[in-house]
Amino acid sequence: MIMEECFDCRLCQTRIKYVYGEGNINSKIMFIGEAPGADENISGRPFIGQAGKLLRKILKEINFNNFYITNIVKCRPPENRDPHQDEFDACKHYLMHEINTINPQIIIILGGIAAKYLLKINKSVLKMRKEVYDIDYIKTYVTYHPAAALYNPSYLKPIKEDLKRIINERTINII
Ligand code: SF4
Repeated sequence: MIMEECFDCRLCQTRIKYVYGEGNINSKIMFIGEAPGADENISGRPFIGQAGKLLRKILKEINFNNFYITNIVKCRPPENRDPHQDEFDACKHYLMHEINTINPQIIIILGGIAAKYLLKINKSVLKMRKEVYDIDYIKTYVTYHPAAALYNPSYLKPIKEDLKRIINERTINII
């Protein structure tokens, strides 16, 4: 998918490249993370930094590579701060376009910030990962962002457990 140049929020002032989603557009699984990081800002590609590499490694371990992946905002917030509400609001239409185009059967939200904005719920990931939500009637799950496991390896196990459960058990008939 091609994005036009966008200046709709302040993140345009500090970005190098905007970062649209990437992956199999026919996939039934869509991951949604928080925002591009430093590597993504330079390359214009999502989840190619350390967190993305870790996520791909986990997915490889559970034999899954058929997905589309994107973020709630398409430009990197300076100093890796959290996106602000007005930035999410300005950018949301790009994400909704991706969701409508990919039309996944399952959405997996990575991290509490993306979950807070998308689901309008302010709960811990610990609580949200045990529940099932929906975005436009698409079954939606939440797990930790892989970046959390870079800082604290104890998150690795729950991320892997969540992805394995969601992908292998919940979607066994649709992949
Ligand atoms: S974050 Fe989204 S709305 Fe803001 S400038 Fe980038 S593409 Fe446009």
